[in-house]
Amino acid sequence: MTFHEAGIAGVDIDESIIDSVKGFLDKEEGMRLYELAAAVSAAAPCLEIGSYCGKSTLYLGAGCRKNGSVLFSIDHHRGSEEQQPGEEYFDPETYDMDAGGMNTLPFFRKTLALGNLEDTVIPIVSRSAVVAGKWATPLSLVFIDGGHSYESAFTDYCCWAGHVIPGGFLLIHDIFKNPEEGGQAPYDIYRLAAASGLFDERPMTKTLGVLHRRHPL
Ligand code: MG
Repeated sequence: MTFHEAGIAGVDIDESIIDSVKGFLDKEEGMRLYELAAAVSAAAPCLEIGSYCGKSTLYLGAGCRKNGSVLFSIDHHRGSEEQQPGEEYFDPETYDMDAGGMNTLPFFRKTLALGNLEDTVIPIVSRSAVVAGKWATPLSLVFIDGGHSYESAFTDYCCWAGHVIPGGFLLIHDIFKNPEEGGQAPYDIYRLAAASGLFDERPMTKTLGVLHRRHPL
């Protein structure tokens, strides 16, 4: 069944595939990702940091595919700090005995195949800072959803926010304005971006922060 058949018009993603993919993305947040990618990706490629098993990739990728655009999806696939063995978000199924650590790349590749996104999504298996050091392509949308330590979030912000073209979007996941509800690193970088003068704040969808890159005066 597609979203269209399920009553969510216009999104060519099989909802049963979305439900089958591991991840931490709410469906309303996913729909916002789809809508924003569909709105701007004709102008330039999109990029996400933190692929994990590809749940957000299904939405962003579908938005890009609609315009014949592409999505770069960066992840070292070794899991972020909070996903390691013994940590709060560890999933034993993602542990690779041969590698002696987490490996989410097989899950991600399966998601791309199921979602018919292999000609739309370009996986980059690396730390985001390593990729950023060689990056020169303007981007219409950057979605930061990588590590949740301050160091990881701040690095992702510094490395990628400057590549968003005027009229494009910088999106940040897991924003909790109340510290009792979650870690503060994503909100810290959201506030840095909002205070930079380069972005306008747009309404959030649940924990998804949306910043619109201003045009030069
Ligand atoms: Mg997240």
